[in-house]
Amino acid sequence: MDYDIVICGGGLVGRSLACALAKLPLQIAVVEALPPKITHQADFDTRSFALSYGNALFLKQIGVWEYLADSAIPIKTIHVSDRGHSGMTRLKASEQRVPALGYIALAPDLNQALQQTLLQYSNVTLLCPAAVTAIDCTPNEALLTLQQSQQIRTRLAVAADGTHSTLRQLLEIPVKQYNYDQTAIIANVGLTRSHHHVAYERFTQDGPIALLPLSEQRCGLVWTIKSEQVARVMSLTEEQFLTELQQAFGYRLGRFAKVGKRFSYPLQLLQAHQLIKPRVTLIGNAAHTLHPIAGQGFNLGLRDVAALTSLIEQALAKQEDLGSELVLSHYKRQQTQDHRHYIRFTDGLVKTFANSALPLGIIRNTGLQALNLLPKLRKTFAHKAMGLKG
Ligand SMILES: Cc1cc2nc3c(=O)[nH]c(=O)nc-3n(C[C@H](O)[C@H](O)[C@H](O)COP(=O)(O)OP(=O)(O)OC[C@H]3O[C@@H](n4cnc5c(N)ncnc54)[C@H](O)[C@@H]3O)c2cc1C
Repeated sequence: MDYDIVICGGGLVGRSLACALAKLPLQIAVVEALPPKITHQADFDTRSFALSYGNALFLKQIGVWEYLADSAIPIKTIHVSDRGHSGMTRLKASEQRVPALGYIALAPDLNQALQQTLLQYSNVTLLCPAAVTAIDCTPNEALLTLQQSQQIRTRLAVAADGTHSTLRQLLEIPVKQYNYDQTAIIANVGLTRSHHHVAYERFTQDGPIALLPLSEQRCGLVWTIKSEQVARVMSLTEEQFLTELQQAFGYRLGRFAKVGKRFSYPLQLLQAHQLIKPRVTLIGNAAHTLHPIAGQGFNLGLRDVAALTSLIEQALAKQEDLGSELVLSHYKRQQTQDHRHYIRFTDGLVKTFANSALPLGIIRNTGLQALNLLPKLRKTFAHKAMGLKG
């Protein structure tokens, strides 16, 4: 056997899994299609990620957090409002007795932290650039073919190769797919006053606007708009863009001073119908791609990583085969529930808040008011946002 585990896809989730497994007595390979010079370019991914409090604790446990702690910005308050209605709610870290409800990390900082963690381990091999082009599974192993016809054998192949997963397609795993007909515009926005560590989520008829606290009086913008508007919004001058954003968001964060380079991401929901095949398992976006409305995609991917790592650790302790059907079926049972739960939550939010029909408007307005008035309900909601149980 060439490797105990081969992780196909060295994105955020694939490399997080490599970091989590690296301390175990395993030989691991990460196969990544893109060359490092592309993934290290400053504008390769300029997104800012909301990390749940629970996942920050997990990243600490696997040694990644120590490289991220200095640059991650704590979220002290989450402010949720609905444009055109009075309903709004505030979740506070102090009320939940935690140092932060979550953290905002920039994609380059996150990539760097994963990279630095992996450098410590000699049992993780990065095969890059190398795309997986074929897979052949027998009851005892998976045989992966890479570009240039190189072949590698493993006891477990993990598909972490994103929304358009090659492995998932090669294995003919069907998916449920829904196109939201919405696109997220991403940019960093300069403020004229402090954000006081508040993360804002404002629902508008065209889609939600998130403004996430960053360093130096800046916020990370995730502005969801109808896809037919993208070309127009992307071609606005900086001044026009800021005026439209200000109109849509209001003045809760004062006046917007400037905006950085804009990027657009078309949004869809995707869920694989099967999470496992003999000797193969799906994690991260390959298994589930969510609307970014609640910042849960990478967070759910990290929950897959935590679940799979724990099952592999248990299999090693019992000297069981880590790619066996028994191990994989446990993963499937655990994560199918988790995926369903988060898909229902994010998809429900998108559809409820995108609908301008009066009854739904009243229900969500009442919901936000109830959330604001009832501490117990707020605690349940805060625990979901923090990625904690209970
Ligand atoms: C606008 C926006 C904002 C978001 N904000 C948040 C947030 O605040 N919080 C949050 O939790 N989530 C957020 N998400 C979701 C998050 O970005 C994704 O869930 C996460 O990046 C998925 O990571 P991944 O590693 O599974 O997939 P990817 O990042 O797509 O990585 C897959 C990797 O596999 C490689 N690959 C593909 N095919 C092959 C092949 N055949 N062989 C080898 N390698 C291959 C690719 O090159 C890539 O590097 C957001 C998403 C969007 C669009």
